[in-house]
Amino acid sequence: MEKYDLIIGGQKIATEQHTEVRNPATNEVVALAPVSTLAHLDAAVTAAKDAFPAYSMSGDAALRDYCNKVADVIEANSEELAKLVTLEQGKPLDGLGSRFELGGCVGWARHASSLSMEPEIIQDDNEGRVAVYQKPVGVVGSITPWNWPLMTAIWHLMPAIRSGNTAIIKPSPYTPLSTLRMIELIAGVLPDGVVNCITGDGEIGGAMSAHEGIAKIVFTGSSTTGGKVMAGASETIKRLTLELGGNDAGIVLPDCDPRQIAEGLFWGAFINNGQTCAALKRLYVHDDIYDEVCRELTDFAKGIVVGNGLQEGTHLGPIQNRMQYDKVANLVEDARAHGGRFLLGGDPDAAGEGLFYPVTLVADVDNGVRLVDEEQFGPVLPIIRFSDIDDVITRANDNPNGLGGSIWTKDLERGRELARRLECGTAWINNHGPVRPDVPFGGVKRSGLGVEFGKWGLAEYTDLQVING
Ligand code: NAD
Repeated sequence: MEKYDLIIGGQKIATEQHTEVRNPATNEVVALAPVSTLAHLDAAVTAAKDAFPAYSMSGDAALRDYCNKVADVIEANSEELAKLVTLEQGKPLDGLGSRFELGGCVGWARHASSLSMEPEIIQDDNEGRVAVYQKPVGVVGSITPWNWPLMTAIWHLMPAIRSGNTAIIKPSPYTPLSTLRMIELIAGVLPDGVVNCITGDGEIGGAMSAHEGIAKIVFTGSSTTGGKVMAGASETIKRLTLELGGNDAGIVLPDCDPRQIAEGLFWGAFINNGQTCAALKRLYVHDDIYDEVCRELTDFAKGIVVGNGLQEGTHLGPIQNRMQYDKVANLVEDARAHGGRFLLGGDPDAAGEGLFYPVTLVADVDNGVRLVDEEQFGPVLPIIRFSDIDDVITRANDNPNGLGGSIWTKDLERGRELARRLECGTAWINNHGPVRPDVPFGGVKRSGLGVEFGKWGLAEYTDLQVING
């Protein structure tokens, strides 16, 4: 069985202990992942700190060049990495699966090279000169989840290295292999110690949050864990970017054509089997077209193939891990007990080894049922009826999360007006979920702190310094 190593200071470091990483489609062991100790974390911090002075002074052209080298090396190895993502994460190779994820990694890495680090000159005249510079903070610690393992790692890493920081990445213990391999490749095109990859669970993540040698934590994961990271980071006054859970509402107005929007609604909710932070997780549909939207969505969903992501023609893979599977199954049973009407799914076949859960559409539920109030993070969509627009906006906002939201209507002006009333970081019109490297992305309320992407995201990896005179 293949054993993976940590990547510290440009070297592969073998650990004493290993843990099995299983394919959620088959329950077979994919490979053995290394298990880091706190001493490995210290070694990674030392390597990153040692690399920082020279790397941060590389100069703008060299930093841009490094970003392009990262894009090149991922692109050149994207088939191998995509396969590894499918094996350990479960998503299909095709469609909106692991090849799509790798394409995103290359795109985001390439885009980082175009970001500007030029100082802003506030005043430059006979009276004086005031300039605002962005300076790297030092060592950045990145903690990633299991749903989009490589995309998230790249979202964390690129602004860090573009702005002259060095970094340590800790992937989720459910999906560490693809990140270890990707960081091994990236470390090969950067100076030693600029990127490091260690592994482990909450103990290592917690130690990173509190570590004296780490200046910033960028974390993507659940709101509960995000709170723990924040608490751990408080003593050392770390900079923080937190991308946390979402329970995004979509609102369908009565002027929509149900058939036309069915596909967009479906993928807004079911991309990556619903295991996406900014997926559509509660669908509010106007009474006038409620039955028709339910029918069209069901018809579309019936054509979706759930299966092993390595097999051609698969649209959705398994749920990534048992904990998440049980959470989804539990929320579905609770919705059944509270009068939910099943348009499709809800009856998993427990016979196989894989964590497959059928695409499930649940009608006639409302706020107050857990499937609506809580983030399901799986292939299940509750569909809620409304008739009054002010009331539905209130219901959409009545949630501690505020990551994304969407309005579906033919009247774009009206859609934009209503979108402004949603309490969320991004509101889409007639779409749900697409993100871009030049547009800020982040959540309000308990969905996070700060943003990623573009000049706004880059700013979070720097401290401002004013040179006055
Ligand atoms: P999680 O919070 O359990 O784990 C995320 C990471 O944190 C893992 O690497 C884990 O090992 C680590 N961790 C666990 N305990 C820790 C601690 N005490 N201190 C520091 N690190 C710790 O989340 P998950 O189950 O991997 O991911 C699913 C959740 O992530 C969902 O709620 C989803 O909405 C959210 N998510 C949000 C975004 C976003 O951009 N907002 C993106 C993806 C996922």
